[in-house]
Amino acid sequence: MSDRIVESCRMCESSDLESVLDLGSTPPSDNFLTLEQLNKSETYYPLRLVCCKSCGLSQLSYVVDRETLFNPDYPYESGTSKFFRDHFEEMAASVTGKLNLAADDLAIDVGSNVGILTAAFQRNGVRSLGVEPVGRLAEKANMAGAETVHAFFDPDIGQKVRDSHGAASVITATNVFAHIDDLNAFVETIKILLKPTGVFVSESPYLLDLVQNLEYDTIYHEHLSYYSVAPMRSFFDRHGMEIIDVHPVDMHGGSLRTYVAFKGAHEVSESVGRYLANEKEQRLQDPEALKKFGAKAAAHKAELFEFLYELKREGKRIVGIGAPAKGNTFLNYCNIGPEILECLTEKAEAKVGLFAPGTHIPVLGDDFLENEQPDFGLLLSWNLKNEIMNNLSAFSAAGGKFIIPIPNIEII
Ligand SMILES: [Zn+2]
Repeated sequence: MSDRIVESCRMCESSDLESVLDLGSTPPSDNFLTLEQLNKSETYYPLRLVCCKSCGLSQLSYVVDRETLFNPDYPYESGTSKFFRDHFEEMAASVTGKLNLAADDLAIDVGSNVGILTAAFQRNGVRSLGVEPVGRLAEKANMAGAETVHAFFDPDIGQKVRDSHGAASVITATNVFAHIDDLNAFVETIKILLKPTGVFVSESPYLLDLVQNLEYDTIYHEHLSYYSVAPMRSFFDRHGMEIIDVHPVDMHGGSLRTYVAFKGAHEVSESVGRYLANEKEQRLQDPEALKKFGAKAAAHKAELFEFLYELKREGKRIVGIGAPAKGNTFLNYCNIGPEILECLTEKAEAKVGLFAPGTHIPVLGDDFLENEQPDFGLLLSWNLKNEIMNNLSAFSAAGGKFIIPIPNIEII
């Protein structure tokens, strides 16, 4: 595998792609740098969103090699937030109940990270297995008792897992399906592993939320596709599968949980038709409508930069709160560097002591806020704003103010 320019749609293979938003070029959002690496060159890749005029899938125009993105230093861990842990607990319980899973059923989680969901299925009495491409994370999951195979989810590993563990009653993928370049191979792997009555449950950020809430920062190189129901439905149809249910989940600024099964194996919920009708009404697969979203993002960039610059002119001290991957799209696209944000404060230890890709803003521990008490904290993990503001109540009690950047600049 290597980098490639997207010349045809990942879902329908049409070459009729139209550009709707150009965020310039940025380094990969999770490639935080060490002090030594600041002296080396960084590779920037195009970050441009195109819409397929045939099936309507929004996708990036350029694919960075997955080995570059999900390298051994990949820092993201899904267990750092209580909100995420609660979410996976709810998901395991709800999927177990909905599909009537029992002790002899197998649940496979793809891109299982440190095994939070894998372990949650175990607690629901369901046999479970994680598949995770980052060795460090797979090892951490295994140490914690969540059995995990270290591999990319490809047909050959699918066959091996089926031989060793049997077929799965459910395969889950949370915030993973949107990261996959070769969707055909991914679905082939699902089909190798899934029982005839099995269900593939995936959660991905929903394009409608992204557009309506101006969440352009959630566009980064790991996220290759920006899903809506209509293109997914046509895609699975070509693979002999169908979406049987879909509902919203409060993750990553608004995601969809979709249930996919072999055609005819399960009843199709009315929710599917309802989503399709709404997407049509919202023109979610229409490049002209999406270009308006692109123009709004550009206007927001100018407004936010002006706002922060004005605070600096008044002599205020500003830091970024959180160092999520999406924050780096934001900082690079909006030209916000260390001259505006003194540092990014972060709870996840894996990132503390490193520097943000592109902008080189240092990442420090949350204790910086208490020790230095800056005037403003720009919330980059705005999707976790309630939890973060709650954790950092000492900062606000001492007069610190939070700036929520999206969808409208708001000071709390
Ligand atoms: Zn297409």
